Amino acid sequence: MPDNASSSKPESVTSPEDAEESAENATEDADPQRRFLIFNAAPAWMVSMLVHVLILLVLGLVTIADPIKIVNVLTANNTGDDGPEIEEFTIEEIDPGEISELEETEPVDVTESVEMVEPTEVEQVDIPTVDLDTADLAAEMAPTAVSLQTLTSTQLQPLGSRTSEMKKKLLRDYGGTESSEAAVTEALKWLSRHQLPNGAWTFQHHLACNGACGNPGEMNRAKAFNAATAMALLPFLGAGQTHIQGEFRPVVFRGLRFLIQNGKPGRKGGLPVLDLSEGGGNMYSHGLAAIALCEAYAMSEDPELAGPAQASLNFITYAQCRDGGWRYRPQQPDGGDTSVTGWQVMALKSGYMGHLSIPPQTIQGSMLFLDKVQSKNGSLYGYASPSQQIRPSCAAIGLLCRMYTGWDKNHPGIVDGVKELAKIGVLKNDIYYDYYAAQVLRHYGGSEWDEFNVELRDWLVSTQDQSAGAKGSWHFPNSASHRGPKEGGRLASTAFATMILEVYYRHMPLYADAAAEEDFPL
Ligand SMILES: [Zn+2]
Repeated sequence: MPDNASSSKPESVTSPEDAEESAENATEDADPQRRFLIFNAAPAWMVSMLVHVLILLVLGLVTIADPIKIVNVLTANNTGDDGPEIEEFTIEEIDPGEISELEETEPVDVTESVEMVEPTEVEQVDIPTVDLDTADLAAEMAPTAVSLQTLTSTQLQPLGSRTSEMKKKLLRDYGGTESSEAAVTEALKWLSRHQLPNGAWTFQHHLACNGACGNPGEMNRAKAFNAATAMALLPFLGAGQTHIQGEFRPVVFRGLRFLIQNGKPGRKGGLPVLDLSEGGGNMYSHGLAAIALCEAYAMSEDPELAGPAQASLNFITYAQCRDGGWRYRPQQPDGGDTSVTGWQVMALKSGYMGHLSIPPQTIQGSMLFLDKVQSKNGSLYGYASPSQQIRPSCAAIGLLCRMYTGWDKNHPGIVDGVKELAKIGVLKNDIYYDYYAAQVLRHYGGSEWDEFNVELRDWLVSTQDQSAGAKGSWHFPNSASHRGPKEGGRLASTAFATMILEVYYRHMPLYADAAAEEDFPL
């Protein structure tokens, strides 16, 4: 159990905002006197009128929430010469800015309100599936961009694909097997055995099992607790396990609580944010953790998670670079890269499916970034600039982002890009690429997916570690990918491999027509 884990305690929002607040109070204290003077100087008719306005206010015919109306009432009756004074009074007394300002300066600690009830270790209760009519909700939200509609696509119930019945059907229809599901179950057990007492996971996972299994990540990722924790949580969530439902409830609960408490609450651009970036992980950590929070919220609809999940998305909006992408540090001046951007777009998607609020400009910005790094009609994607030579992981990430931000199945970029990925096939030294390619090809469907799936699935099932201490995990010693196995060790390899084996049901198929071809009842 590393010291770092226990020392990473939540930071509290204090001094700067408190100072601001007391300054506010000081100006407010001065106000009554000024108001009083104006009141004395006012002619009798004005006093009478104000009394009437006050009565109106009391009757609720005119409300504070609608200050414009009040101003109009006063202006309509104002035929005297003392107009400016009335206006001054009106503005002093009922300033719409004042109301919103008061709301804004109130410090919001998104972690403070979280009082999730720790699940007890009782037998799993079968919670009947509730048919939520979220279609109305979606209509009310009236997304302003096509891209936002695509983000939610066929998902009428957020992540409903993970509920047991739907899961079974999708597993069957999209090429999962009993042995791939058994591998997922073993993987979740391995992950749960490597959780630290404080709820976190670490890429130095051998510390959690006293070296029962080896191959930890690199030391420069040792402090990336948020990234490790999120990576470990995602396979649980992908399998339909939350802190409310499923046999791993306590595990998921402790992981989510760690993320929320270890994030740094604050304010950016007037909005509460939860910053989950960290040394050794930066915006990678943040994106991963935001996905975990948003998925957990979308699946459980636990109101305690709404604040932290929304605040994590607000931080993504804040951290966006000028070119519309994301990089290691928030608003990095040299612009985004495809790899970091991929995680943020997935987080925005998960949040949107949970009906959290995403500014359309943030999505539009990410599309501009994809435009910047694409080549060959959008079938190829570079790392931070267009690349004529294919970079497999960037190509796969770019295509998946395109699918989620509005390109349809027949877009030439998608059609050609899928052909490229099918040509590359499964890369046994790059699980990071395989993870994204599997999602792209599964959404696309057809023979490209069938071939890719059989090879990847059977390879993963056969390479899962069966030795005593490491049972259920994966490690790829010859990995060329620097994102994942090399830096994140056995924990990252296991997370990626498990999520790949959950690809059948982790998300609803994106293209409805593809689903129809597969005789999918929608
Ligand atoms: Zn171990």
